[in-house]
Amino acid sequence: MGKTATGIRLFNTLTRQKEEFVPIEFGKVGMYTCGPTVYDYAHIGNFRAFVFEDLLKRWLEYRGFKVVQVMNLTDIDDKTIKGSQKQSKPLREYTDFFANAFFEDIRALKITPATIYPRATDHIPEMVKLIKALLENGYAYKSEDNSIYYAISKFPGYGKLSHIKPAELKAGARVRQDEYAKEEAQDFALWKAYTDEDGNVFWDTELGKGRPGWHIECSAMSMKYLGETFDIHCGGVDNIFPHHENEIAQSEAATGKPFVLYWMHNEHLLVEGKKMAKRLGNFYTLRDLLQKGLDPLAIRYLLLSTHYRQQFNFTFEGLEAAKGAIERLANLQRRLQDANGKTDEEKLSELTQRVQTCFGAAMDDDLNVSVALASLFDFVREINYMLDANALSHEEAQKVYQTISEFDKVLGVIPKPKEESLPPEAQILIQKREEARKAKDWKTADAAREELKAMGIILEDTAQGIRWKREKT
Ligand SMILES: [Zn+2]
Repeated sequence: MGKTATGIRLFNTLTRQKEEFVPIEFGKVGMYTCGPTVYDYAHIGNFRAFVFEDLLKRWLEYRGFKVVQVMNLTDIDDKTIKGSQKQSKPLREYTDFFANAFFEDIRALKITPATIYPRATDHIPEMVKLIKALLENGYAYKSEDNSIYYAISKFPGYGKLSHIKPAELKAGARVRQDEYAKEEAQDFALWKAYTDEDGNVFWDTELGKGRPGWHIECSAMSMKYLGETFDIHCGGVDNIFPHHENEIAQSEAATGKPFVLYWMHNEHLLVEGKKMAKRLGNFYTLRDLLQKGLDPLAIRYLLLSTHYRQQFNFTFEGLEAAKGAIERLANLQRRLQDANGKTDEEKLSELTQRVQTCFGAAMDDDLNVSVALASLFDFVREINYMLDANALSHEEAQKVYQTISEFDKVLGVIPKPKEESLPPEAQILIQKREEARKAKDWKTADAAREELKAMGIILEDTAQGIRWKREKT
């Protein structure tokens, strides 16, 4: 193992403390992130996890690591079977639809794609092999109905992630469904023998006719692509038990090796101060929010701007503030293009050093993004002052532009200029003003400018031509 200090500290759920991050292989990170169960559109609580994982990956890449990220698609479990039966569709057709919707959603949120998205139904042989290994070494047993269960009493480390106490368990009590509460910690299903409820969803394997349990899917797919021991495993706190606890039990019992070095979990999301629930009318998929005309980058900014281990309250007011923050960054990037003054070099070098040190130190400290963002916006304010005082040359302004672009490789929130389009009526007004100016019709030109201003769009005549920006919010 390469024991090279990285300076990055991550909170490890396994030890309940921040630890120096030391990857197994120098310069490389293997990272598994539990993906969506493709039985419905993902909701913003799911996206909080995916955005956090994206931020973590981008930060590791910013620090020079090559990250291999595996995100599975759960396309076979209790929920997908029920969903497909409700719609009378073949399972694959039903899950394909929601898998595609998921990929559209992550594109909208600028989540960088994982290296690979293995689907559970494409990995049944790997799961069968793993279950066979557990049967052979005595950690699994067949029940009367031919299902195969994991015997949690056989694994001394059971409970080490979630801190449940195995002493409270009723030996041999079994749970068949994929999801259950801590109080119901019992032997769980690795392989579910076919029942009529499964309809036409089954595999004929050496283990009999049936289908895998949910937990074995992630053990099989993560170890296939990342090895028997890998660096980081992420998910939401609700995955700690039973899902991740069971993943550890299955994988470590089968291999005799530690499964994962760093477990990282993001906290829950509330909406307008309440737990998201359909009956409370505060349950939103990403699509619901986009249909309201909300900006996906503002949603992204809002989701990543609270530290991942803090409970996060999603509000529409917060979304407005997020939009304002993004506009401040985008407006500065536009202003920098037009800088044409004389640089106060001492000041600039001090500001640049400060933001790079503070942003870096904060992110290295278990992704302390609120502190990192505060230092970035201090920098933005100071650079705006320098631009006001014409104290940046064109060349130095380009360097500042680059500095901010580097930070945005981590944040992914500044829209590319072409993406930030003006409403058509504003484009018509700008054109009208141009024509009026050419015709030296100053009255019409000024009127058009005023109308634009009323829409919150400010025009600036620069040496490079006309530029526009949104009014500061
Ligand atoms: Zn998983």
